[in-house]
Amino acid sequence: MKLTRLGEFGLIEKLRRIAPTSPNVRIGIGDDAAWTKLKTGSVLITADLLLENVHFNLDWTSSFDLGYKALAVNLSDIAAMGGIPAFLILSLGVPSHFDSSQLEKLYQGIRSLALKHNVALVGGDISLAETLLISPCLIGHAPYRPISRSGAKIDQDIYVTGTLGDSALGLRLLKAKPRRVSKSIAAHLLLRHRKPTPRLAVGELLAREKLATAMIDISDGLLQDLGHICKASKVGALISEENLPLSIAYRRLAGRNGRQYALTGGEDYELLFCARRRDRKRVEQLQRRVKVPISRIGACVAAQEGIVVLDCSGNAVSFRGKGHDHFKKETPLTRWMTTAL
Ligand code: ADP
Ligand code: MG
Repeated sequence: MKLTRLGEFGLIEKLRRIAPTSPNVRIGIGDDAAWTKLKTGSVLITADLLLENVHFNLDWTSSFDLGYKALAVNLSDIAAMGGIPAFLILSLGVPSHFDSSQLEKLYQGIRSLALKHNVALVGGDISLAETLLISPCLIGHAPYRPISRSGAKIDQDIYVTGTLGDSALGLRLLKAKPRRVSKSIAAHLLLRHRKPTPRLAVGELLAREKLATAMIDISDGLLQDLGHICKASKVGALISEENLPLSIAYRRLAGRNGRQYALTGGEDYELLFCARRRDRKRVEQLQRRVKVPISRIGACVAAQEGIVVLDCSGNAVSFRGKGHDHFKKETPLTRWMTTAL
């Protein structure tokens, strides 16, 4: 089947059926990271590659920031399982016209974030390539039971950390280069796009306290990633547009109709999780402890309801597309995003 029809996630599902597995795989293909048993314990393993001109553009990305982000996106997947990162294997495809100093800067970027989280870079591979390819594989500890995407139940609350849509707006600024955007707004959005913050402390505490029943990190847009939780957990979701956490920069720039970036813009790397209603107080306490904003944005409903977003008057909002998919043809949303600013 053509990939443009099947889509990225349809392809993964087809490949999953062929992929060999073993009784030591506790969580396999279909979650943020795999959780596997070893004779000496268990580990989390994840890989998230970055390809030039698909995930990044060297015209507006420094080698340092690229290294930082390559590690950040993988850390985010370990955070989404409630794990603790430990070892990084980094494989590179490098065009021959590159200078070694560019790759050293990339490693400096990785190093700056790795030191914050006690991650050691322990190996990798290098090959000649047409464009720059960065392929990290991150291995982490699972001291608490990892939080999969499949544990959400009807009536549970839905939460998100931080703010949504900033990264997509930052990318929009890089592409469109509008002149009238204030420096501080642009600086905030660009930082969020270039150096996302993996929410490791929140993820780990949610696992330790057994508070989250399902969790995912938002890499492809809130609705797309919420869709993965809903599918894995066999629930639907009711989201209140009013409760979506938006930064001041986002509110200033995106204006009244700008919720689409928060709903479907990718690369926020915030955590989206579900928790029992009776645990609301405990989630608030956790928020105060980690000093990361955590917003309750909706609730899980019956699967047949699907995912519904309500505006402040209680009317269902129509949204164009759900988020990023590598293969599906350009959706009306992506067209809208290139014209909206
Ligand atoms: P995330 O956005 O959290 O990184 P992805 O959407 O990239 O997750 O992948 C979804 C699931 O599919 C993950 O469990 C991932 O390991 C798995 N996956 C992705 N690509 C492949 C592949 N080529 N072969 C096997 N599994 C894959
Ligand atoms: Mg993920």
